[in-house]
Amino acid sequence: MDVPLSHLDLLQLAQAHPQLSPHDYARLHRSHPMHPEAVLLNGDYYILFLQRRESDDACVFLGDQGACTNYPARPRACRTFPFDQTRNGLLRIMPDIDFLYQDFCDKDPVQKADLQAAKLHLSTSDQEFYRYHEVVERWNRMVDRKPARQNLQAFLEFVLTLDGLSDKAQAPQPLIS
Ligand code: SF4
Repeated sequence: MDVPLSHLDLLQLAQAHPQLSPHDYARLHRSHPMHPEAVLLNGDYYILFLQRRESDDACVFLGDQGACTNYPARPRACRTFPFDQTRNGLLRIMPDIDFLYQDFCDKDPVQKADLQAAKLHLSTSDQEFYRYHEVVERWNRMVDRKPARQNLQAFLEFVLTLDGLSDKAQAPQPLIS
């Protein structure tokens, strides 16, 4: 699964892994310039996803035993997985991964608290990505005529300068168990 990154996800990853370069955890995927998450980098437009390992295409934070080695700083999309919301606000398992649940799920009933946490994360995620679209638009305008600034490290530094973001990234919402 491709895990999209917002500005808060990026910030949280940078704070949790200061020894890493942003390219170690963020993958650039070329995009149409009109996409609201298309960030102007290196003279082109890219959506940012969580980085994958070259060896097996798995997430770079997937541990040997199948556990997440980045659990406290995992992106919002990991926190809501495998749920999404229908247009009228109903919670559902994402249609394209439904088969995984039919074939491999242990069929334990999902706890009510998990569903409530998923709903909370999904509505926060919507707000977060709405704000991210504004951040991206601002960045794209700012670096439009400055090709030397159009790199991922500079984008991360730009995100760090936005008011109040560090506090939000350090105070993650309650987690799905
Ligand atoms: S939960 Fe952890 S290992 Fe899984 S995709 Fe997210 S960051 Fe990667």
